[in-house]
Amino acid sequence: MLVQQSYRYELKPNNKQKTLLAKHAGTARFAYNWGLARRIEEYKNTGKSSNAIEQHRQLNVLKKTEFPWMYEVSKCAPQESLHNLDRAFNNFYHGLKSGKRVGFPKFKKKGKYNSFRLTGSIHIFESSVKLPRIGIIRTKERTDVKGSILSAAVSRKADRWFVSFSIERERKKHKVAENSAKGIDVGINCFAVTSDGERIESPGPLDNALKLLKRRSKQHSKKKIGSANRKKSALRLARLHCSIKNRRNDFLHKVSTQLAKTKPVIVIEDLNIRGMMRNGHLSRKIGDAGWSKFMNMLSYKTEWYGSYLLRVPRFYPSSKMCSRCKTIKENFNLSERIYRCEKCGLVIDRDENAAINLKHYITGSSPGIYACGDTSGGGT
Ligand SMILES: [Zn+2]
Repeated sequence: MLVQQSYRYELKPNNKQKTLLAKHAGTARFAYNWGLARRIEEYKNTGKSSNAIEQHRQLNVLKKTEFPWMYEVSKCAPQESLHNLDRAFNNFYHGLKSGKRVGFPKFKKKGKYNSFRLTGSIHIFESSVKLPRIGIIRTKERTDVKGSILSAAVSRKADRWFVSFSIERERKKHKVAENSAKGIDVGINCFAVTSDGERIESPGPLDNALKLLKRRSKQHSKKKIGSANRKKSALRLARLHCSIKNRRNDFLHKVSTQLAKTKPVIVIEDLNIRGMMRNGHLSRKIGDAGWSKFMNMLSYKTEWYGSYLLRVPRFYPSSKMCSRCKTIKENFNLSERIYRCEKCGLVIDRDENAAINLKHYITGSSPGIYACGDTSGGGT
């Protein structure tokens, strides 16, 4: 089975390379904004919208006379940007058709959009990478990439540069034992609870760093706009955000890899994360825990490691149902941490009860579902 995977490394560019990277990011942003402006105008004039291939052709013609500075960077940077723009438009149109709210493509602001993608002659060495037009840049860690490289996305977070390689590689499929299903409930108190009662605690990076973040944001807002001090504090703030994000991602990767490697069948609720994010006080915690990222990781990692991920439909009452006698408790509040069944007397942690119910979805009460489930694949 051919799977796609990505590897991310921090770069250690020298000053000359930093300038070149910034030029690439700038050109990518310019091409995106240029393409967007042109498409808006074309649409106004003709009622039709262009596409990436056509726009790249137009840009190449203009490059000679209008934008000669573009020759300093790899032609991939603007080309890939125009493809991104295509995707943004496709998502927007698709959203209109399916009734999902997807915003109209926005112009990329300087300082917010610092990334570009390269294809072509990319090489990865033990502790450096070679990118077209940019050359060999050292990496902070040793690289360990297996598979053939599809592309390299370079991005800047605060004052650090990262590269993320998309690769494609062959993975073996594994047979899955039938009695090994595990329900996993992504909790509110605890990051996740399995149907065995195993609790996976979140390091709560945002919670821990939140006080610091609050203080720094406050300090930042008091600095005079345009002053050197404000710039300095903006950088510090961005660095803190970046470190929180990195720590959170490390945790999510560790947990999802461990689960995908050790649990042959994982049953998880298909949560409506978008809907929950809108719910005020829950949103920060959910955002912090990175549930949607976690689900996504679980989905591709179960594919890599040959395990099976089943997403249980949202209407399945995993929280409200007693995992022993199947009675449904209609008014079971989000704030109640313990599930007490009035019928059979079961007293159990709410998240563990939900995890067991999720497991039962595949093994216990509905054994038939397993037989028709496709055990070879990953997410649905
Ligand atoms: Zn009961």
